[in-house]
Formats: sequence, C-alpha cells, structure tokens
Amino acid sequence: RSEILIALAGNPNSGKSTLFNAITGARQHVGNYPGITVEKKEGFYDFNGRSLRLVDLPGTYSLTAYSLEERVARELLANERPAAVINVVDASNLERNLYLTVQILEMGIPVIVALNMVDVAKGRGIEIDAQLLAERLGFPVVPTVARRGEGKTELMEKVLAFADENQRREPLRLYYGPDIDPVLDDMEREIAASGFLTEVYPPRWTALKYLEADEQILDAGNAADPEVSRRLLEKAHRVTEHIKATLDSYPEAIIADHRYGFITALLKGGVVRKSPRADRLY
Ligand code: GDP
Repeated sequence: RSEILIALAGNPNSGKSTLFNAITGARQHVGNYPGITVEKKEGFYDFNGRSLRLVDLPGTYSLTAYSLEERVARELLANERPAAVINVVDASNLERNLYLTVQILEMGIPVIVALNMVDVAKGRGIEIDAQLLAERLGFPVVPTVARRGEGKTELMEKVLAFADENQRREPLRLYYGPDIDPVLDDMEREIAASGFLTEVYPPRWTALKYLEADEQILDAGNAADPEVSRRLLEKAHRVTEHIKATLDSYPEAIIADHRYGFITALLKGGVVRKSPRADRLY
C-alpha cells in the first residue's frame, strides 16, 4: 500500500505543531535531518484506507538559503516532492504569512491552506472570506482552530481529495517588473533547454535563485554545469548592476516587492474585512 507524502509548512507560531499533533496524535516520531541538528518530525494519518506520511517542516518566514531551517524546508520540498503541502497560516496576520505560500507555489508544489487562528482573528475584528481566497489562489483554504481541533476533518478531506487527483501544478508565475522579467524569461529558457538542475528545481525557480544570488543554488549549479552556471551568473550580474545603478536596490528586494504586490491584490475587494474596532486596535 503506497504512502502519500504531505508536508506541513508555516511561519513560526502559526500553530503548525498544534495542528500536526491534532492530525497525527501519538503516531509520530522525532529525529534529525542527516548531519544537522534541525529536528525532523514525522507522523502518520490513515483515512478511508489510505495512508499519509506527514513531515513537519521547520517553521520559516521564507525559503531563502539564509538559515538552516529554510534550506531544510525547501530541500525537502524540492527533493521529496510531497503530493501537497498543508500550509498553516495565521489568519490574524494573513498578509505576512502568505509570503511563504507564494514561495511554495513558485516551487510548483500544490498547497492546502489551513487558515488557522480564525478565533484570534475574529477576536480582533478580522473576518476572512476563505471561499473567495480559495478561488483567487486556485487552492483550497480551510478555516481551522488547531488548539480545539476545529476544521481538522474538513482539512484532511481536502488534502486527500487533492492527493488522490494527483494535482501537479505549474509553478506560480509572478510578474517581477520590467527590469527583471525579460531576463528571467531568457534565463528560464536557457535552463529548460539545457536541463540545468531541472530534475530537482523548476527552471524559473532556478533562474530566480540566480537573480537572488542564492549561495546554495549557485553552488549546486556550478557543480552540475559550470558553463551554464557562468552564463546565468553573467546575466544575473548585469541585471543586478542595472538595478543598483537605476533604483539603488537589489533584485532580491524587487522580487520581494512584487510578491507582496501579488498578495495585496489577492486580499483586495472583500477577502479580508476589518471592523472599525480592528483598525483601532492594530
Ligand atoms: P508553531 O510554532 O507554528 O508550531 O506554533 P504552536 O503550534 O506551538 O502554537 C503557538 C501557540 O498558538 C500555542 O500556544 C498554541 O496553543 C496556540 N494555537 C495554535 N493554534 C491556535 C488556534 O487556532 N487558536 C488559538 N487561539 N491558539 C492557537
């Protein structure tokens, strides 16, 4: 009987551990990722004769190479390609939490959003239209209160339905502005044509990482094909110099701005409703 791999991802304090415990109960074990001290929690969940293996990723705000936790999280997503990610987001801090969601989608991994802490959000006068958010994202969004186990069954039904349909998705394609986009397209084409790291990472994602000067991917790229890597670096370098000279900024910052722009647009027009009380409080 085959086991379906599901990863849990989310910001620290989003309630990820609470939800993981609620789903897997006592059926979990804790180890370490090979060679490092980051804790690896795994658990199991059976439903309708199917068996899920859940991996609890380290809590992170992003998927850069700056911290060990982020590297561990994205390497697991890239190498083990879970059928889906349960992305736990804090409903009372949605905009910031969705930054990680966007990056998971840029990797081409399907997500089921656990819109957690809806009780806290409500207490602060924040109401979120989960249905509308799901329609805009193109992925399920299930409100949960992990501490009370609320929403767990609906969440897991969505996860299983999704895993069963084997929902492979194209990586989310964002627009990163006139300075970055043409070069990114060009780099993406070169990467796809040469098969550069394509067994692990989507081509556009690798191109983005070259623009972000991501050390880990640059090292992997150099090892895989120094010639292609050098050409990509040259292209990335030219854009970086241009952006420094004209905008006094870096590709990384521009890319982050556009991700936030996407999130702002996603939440516009009724997805988040705040009572006047919420504005007074926050
Ligand atoms: P993690 O860092 O994402 O693993 O977060 P935890 O699971 O440790 O949760 C952080 C805190 O939030 C704990 O005190 C939890 O009991 C609490 N918590 C988790 N989910 C909810 C929720 O839906 N509502 C409320 N009110 N508290 C929650």
